[in-house]
Amino acid sequence: TPVIVAIDGPSGTGKSSTSKAVAAQLGLSYLDTGAQYRAITWWMVTNSIDIADPSAIAAVAGKPEIVSGTDPSGPTITVDGVDVAGPIREQDVTSRVSAVSAVPEVRSRITELQRTIAGSAVTGIVVEGRDIGTTVLPDADLKIFLTASPEARAARRSGELKGADLHTTREALIKRDAADSSRKTSPLAKADDAVEVDTTDLTLKQVIECVVTLVEE
Ligand code: C5P
Repeated sequence: TPVIVAIDGPSGTGKSSTSKAVAAQLGLSYLDTGAQYRAITWWMVTNSIDIADPSAIAAVAGKPEIVSGTDPSGPTITVDGVDVAGPIREQDVTSRVSAVSAVPEVRSRITELQRTIAGSAVTGIVVEGRDIGTTVLPDADLKIFLTASPEARAARRSGELKGADLHTTREALIKRDAADSSRKTSPLAKADDAVEVDTTDLTLKQVIECVVTLVEE
């Protein structure tokens, strides 16, 4: 039967790099659920939806067609056929994604998509996000919760952003995690049966090895 792996945690813990590598190594599909929330947020921004008004977001949550390509060696994401892999990483999307993701109609829509994708994976899938182990796939075969100190997370994130100010990155990241952790509908949380891995003093290679070993056990 297909193996389902849920990897949750805040940003900057190495979730994406780890999830992609584990999926590639084990011949599984890969789904970046953060990219889906970013994609719907990109659509809201592009269509000038008032992000401060949850009912305005809810009213159009079903409109954009979001399609995720699940090959870990080259994941893709489109909205109404448009490749948005680049634009969804921009600051204007990153600063608004927590607000859009907090709207229950957005979450139910995206959660349904995620379950369909996970259910159709032939060999299995690694799904990374914030609420995968708690809400989206509570019956996953393995649940991992990645953590790291705020300093380590900010350093990794500003490394990715090439030259971004460390202090600004750290503040933005803490603010986004706080918003994601405090929303009413399926917040960022560790499932009771998840294995917590603190990546602060681990290399990416060590984290990957740790997760692969847990999957194979
Ligand atoms: O993982 P990434 O940082 O790209 O996620 C972007 C945002 O998408 C998160 O800050 C969060 O607001 C939202 N998200 C979510 N639930 C998930 C994955 C991401 O609410 N499962």
